[in-house]
Formats: sequence, C-alpha cells, structure tokens
Amino acid sequence: MEKLLLWGLYVATFYAFLPGIISRTFGFRVFKKGRAQREIALTFDDGPDPVYTPQLLDLLARYKAKATFFVVGSHAEGQEALLRRMKEEGHVIGIHNYVHKSNWLMRPRTVKRQIERTAELIEKATGERSAYYRPPWGIVNVFDYANLGYLQIILWSAMFGDWRIRVGAERLRKRMMRKLRPGEVILLHDCGMTFGADKDAPRNMLAALEAYLEEGTRRGYRFVDIQEMIKLTDSARASHASVWKRLLISLWLLWEKAFHLAFRLKTVGDKNNPAFHYRVTTYNGETVELVGGSRVTKGDLIAELHFDNKKLSAIAAESKSPVATGIRMIREVEQALPLLANQLAGDTEAKDIKAVYGVTMIHRGADKLGFEIYELPEGLFAKSTRVYLRILIRVLTSKPKKSSKERRRKEAISPRMLFMPVATVRRYATEQIGKIQEEAERISDAVERTISAAADEAAQLGTKTTAI
Ligand SMILES: [Zn+2]
Repeated sequence: MEKLLLWGLYVATFYAFLPGIISRTFGFRVFKKGRAQREIALTFDDGPDPVYTPQLLDLLARYKAKATFFVVGSHAEGQEALLRRMKEEGHVIGIHNYVHKSNWLMRPRTVKRQIERTAELIEKATGERSAYYRPPWGIVNVFDYANLGYLQIILWSAMFGDWRIRVGAERLRKRMMRKLRPGEVILLHDCGMTFGADKDAPRNMLAALEAYLEEGTRRGYRFVDIQEMIKLTDSARASHASVWKRLLISLWLLWEKAFHLAFRLKTVGDKNNPAFHYRVTTYNGETVELVGGSRVTKGDLIAELHFDNKKLSAIAAESKSPVATGIRMIREVEQALPLLANQLAGDTEAKDIKAVYGVTMIHRGADKLGFEIYELPEGLFAKSTRVYLRILIRVLTSKPKKSSKERRRKEAISPRMLFMPVATVRRYATEQIGKIQEEAERISDAVERTISAAADEAAQLGTKTTAI
C-alpha cells in the first residue's frame, strides 16, 4: 500500500506538478502576462453560452473591445453561429478542451483527442484553425508540451472568482478595478455550466465588466485579443533589449575613450573617421620568431594596434551578417595600412619598433595583408581577452539563433596575436606608391578569394572580429 502511494506520488509529481511549476516559473510555452502601454487582454472561458455569450458580444461591441474566447468543445456544439459571430466581430477563439475536465485526470491521448475535436469544430464553423489553448484550471501535464504542437498555451494574470454567484457584481467590480492596468490578461467566464460554477454567475460578470470597460475607456486603455497582446509584448521586449544594447555600447565607447587617453593612443588617418589607433610600447610576451627571420622578444619596442571601436560598432550595425562584418573590417584594415605605415615612418617614438602588433579575432585574410598569426599564450591575458571579445561581439551584433553544433564550434574560436614585421609595414608606405598599388590589387584579389572561400566556414563559425 505504501509502495503504491509512493508510486502515485511519483507519477503525480512528474505528470502534473512539475510541468505546472515549470510553466509557471519559467513561462515555458506559456503566455500569462503582457507588456503594453495601454492595452489589456480580456479572455473568456467555458463558453459559448446561448444566453450570456451574445450579451457579452453586444457589450464588447459597444466599447469596441476585442477579446479571446476559450471555448469548451461540447458547449460549442450546435453554437456554430455564435463562433462565427465572434470571428466576424474581430475576436480570437481559443481551445479549452472538449469537455471541461482537468488534464491531470486524462491520459495524454485523451487530452490530444479533446483538443483535436474542439479545433476541428472551430475550424468548421469559422474556417480558421485556432492557435491558442487554455487548459481547464490552467493545469498542464508533461505531455501537453509534446501534444500541443503549434498551439500556444495561454494562462492569465488576473482572475476574480467570477464563476461564483455569491461573490456579487459589486464585489467583483471592486476586485476587477484593482487589475485595471495595461498588460493584464484578465480571466472571466461567460458560461456557468461547468463543474463548480454557478449557472447564472455570468450575469454578475457582465455587470462588473461593463463598469470595468467604462472606466478603462475613460482612462484611454484599449481592450485587445491575445494575439495583439503577444505581439505588443514581443516588441516591447525587443525594444527593451535594444535600449540595453545601446546603453552598453555607449558605456563601452566611453571606457574606450578613457583607455585612449590613459595610454595616449595615436590616431591613424582621418581624426573623425579613423580605422586604427596605436601606441608604441614594449613587448611583454614570449619570444616570437617571425617568418621573415626577425624576432620579437620581451622588451622590444612594438606598435600596438587598436581598431577603432566606434567604427567597429558602426560596421557591425550596418552589416547583415558576421561574415560581412569580417570582410568590411579587413577592407578597412587594408585601406588604413599605408596611412599607418606613413605615420609610423614619421613618428620618432616609433623609429625602433620591431613590429606592429595586435590582438584580434579576425585572422582569416589578415595573413594576406602581411600579418603573421600566432596563438595567444594561454594565461590570464588570453582568458580575459577571450571573454572581452565574446561580450563585445554579443553586444555589437544581433545574431540569428545557431544550432548547438555551430555554437560548439564557435566556442573553439579564440583571439590571435597578429604581428607584422617592421619591414613589411614599411612596404606599405606611400613612397613606393606604384609598387604598392600593384601589390594592393594583388592582395585585394587574394583577400577576396580567401574570404569567399572562407565565407562558408566563417558563417558557420559565426565569428566577429575586432582588434582590442
Ligand atoms: Zn474553464
């Protein structure tokens, strides 16, 4: 007996309580409250009722209010004209099972059949398939998530016990007024024929609702169906996110400005629209043997490159994809290299530099410009750089959702050190303009080829690139 009880508890937990907690806590596949400036979503359950639903429709029409009706299939049977009227008057129809029974008490297959049967009834009457589902008493079970497919579960943010006649119209009105505010998903009942409800309770509901609509209209609120509330909520969330993003970007640009001042970064080219900044500093890392035979060791002077982050954020904002961002960045670098070379040639502080150095996530194509690419030695600097660049990329770009495989590959991406030996830098100086131009064209071609060949891979990797 005890065993049976435990087993029952176990089943109840996984079948009933857990999904309830999941959906209520995380809002998983469940919509229950909106975000809106002046909209309220009215929803009515358990109908249609031959007496009260037409009265409700009249009342809603008087206030130009739109609502969502979660109908019980068995109640809708024979009331097809009412369903049609709902649709014609601009309301949304959702499913509330075929009989008003909790999903806890039914096998998954039965729930599925109940939903199907009601969906077909609605479609036959209105020519439209319902997209919304509200389980009786808001109770879902684990299988509902799999069963529902295209249906979105709609719960509510406010209910008032309006199914009980003894609550009375006045008390109901008072309760409702406390929830007269934008974003609420109001649950009311236009039919009292279900278990536990009172047959004529909707009469009180109609009286209270009239006062609610009157006061809401006076305050300038709009009463909308659930579809519109979801749409408003989605766009409110999106703009909220973009406000955050803008704030983060401006904070970061501010920080960057402070960094430039603190380290006396020199700007390359047009002061109003620079691509690079640099500072001459001593190299602190491990010795790097460059391909040309030179080497950079600890204590050597180098020019440390910083890509202009304002330009980077502008490019990222304009580019349709990470690949496009990468390509434009490489072009900018290519165009700015002669300017950098000229400036370095005239900079006495830079006359003894061994190389130009930078840390970046763009390394594809950079070798064609004359950079040599090295792994960042593992350590705190590499780790913090990785974190910094990842955050930067996330903030700067709104990227499409990626498959888990692509995400795993993205995790494998890490920043690299780029070195350009000073001899290579000098070749970019405009003193040898003719040769360089020729070279640049050749490089440009090579870059283009490399980039287009790498485009597929880059798209998968979804990397963005930047110099810090
Ligand atoms: Zn119900």
